[in-house]
Amino acid sequence: MRNRKNTATMKQFKILLIVLFLVPVNMLFSQEKKVIMIDAGHGGIDSGALGANHSREKDITLAIAKAMLMYNRTLLDNPYELYLTRYKDTLISLSHRTQLVHVLRPDLFISLHCNHAKNEKATGIEVYLHNKTSLKNENQMESKVVALSMIEVLTERLGYRSRGIKRANFQVLRESIAISPAILVELGFLSNTDEASYLELEKNINALALALLMAIKI
Ligand SMILES: [Zn+2]
Repeated sequence: MRNRKNTATMKQFKILLIVLFLVPVNMLFSQEKKVIMIDAGHGGIDSGALGANHSREKDITLAIAKAMLMYNRTLLDNPYELYLTRYKDTLISLSHRTQLVHVLRPDLFISLHCNHAKNEKATGIEVYLHNKTSLKNENQMESKVVALSMIEVLTERLGYRSRGIKRANFQVLRESIAISPAILVELGFLSNTDEASYLELEKNINALALALLMAIKI
């Protein structure tokens, strides 16, 4: 009787070992991690805004998104499971970006952009929420918490000027908010010489990436 019990326990143990061997360790624990989707705005033939110094919005957003991936893995010891909507300089439609949200159902969706204005003196950061979703909606409530945190970190740590939280009917927000908290961040004006020059330097891209990661509150 005892032997049969031992054999059964041994069998279970062997099955457990096989499972542990086959499943990557990070997948076993991944459920505890918050899933964040970073949307690097524009890409491919869509360059986005063009900088006073000829920099392109699509390159800046991708560089920041990739630096966020890198810092999450290295400096911060992998607290989040991060996914990008694009990993290369490719054109992805807005609806394909939000389809990824519907498939992956992340805990937070952040769309990265840089601003542009006719007035060359316009400066500062803006964080957008969807304008037709009530703040009573749980995803919208969480979006606002992250938006406030982003403004706080980017102004206090990096010295950005805040233009505040704004609301707009952007497609990526409209089609994501039912699934996840969703924000769109405008990280300074490429039409302003100072802010365009700031975004040109790798050390500032890295600083922005780290600040954005630090501001994630979910
Ligand atoms: Zn943009």
